[in-house]
Amino acid sequence: MVDLFPSRALDTAVTRLRTGHTRLNAHLHRLGMTDSPHCLWCPTHPDTPEHLLLHCPRHHSRRVAFLPSLSAIHPHRPTLTHLLGGCTNTTQAFKTLNLTRTFLHKTI
Ligand SMILES: [Zn+2]
Repeated sequence: MVDLFPSRALDTAVTRLRTGHTRLNAHLHRLGMTDSPHCLWCPTHPDTPEHLLLHCPRHHSRRVAFLPSLSAIHPHRPTLTHLLGGCTNTTQAFKTLNLTRTFLHKTI
């Protein structure tokens, strides 16, 4: 069976989002590598993992595509912790993380 997703790259992306050590502007700004901590598409919002996964309008269409599957797992709005596999129920965590990985695969 062919692996459709570059697993290692997605694992790295999820780990970076969990730790906050990302290539997003909020982190790069803390390191002095960018002039602004804000999202390039949302000049008043910090470019954080939460913004990328939950709020940035740049990824709205991709987010909308995976929200119905996500709402079957999380009837209430999921948090960043949920999206990164931090659910207390391991089955929920596995399913949610797979959806997040699919979103990231289409986004990054
Ligand atoms: Zn944005």
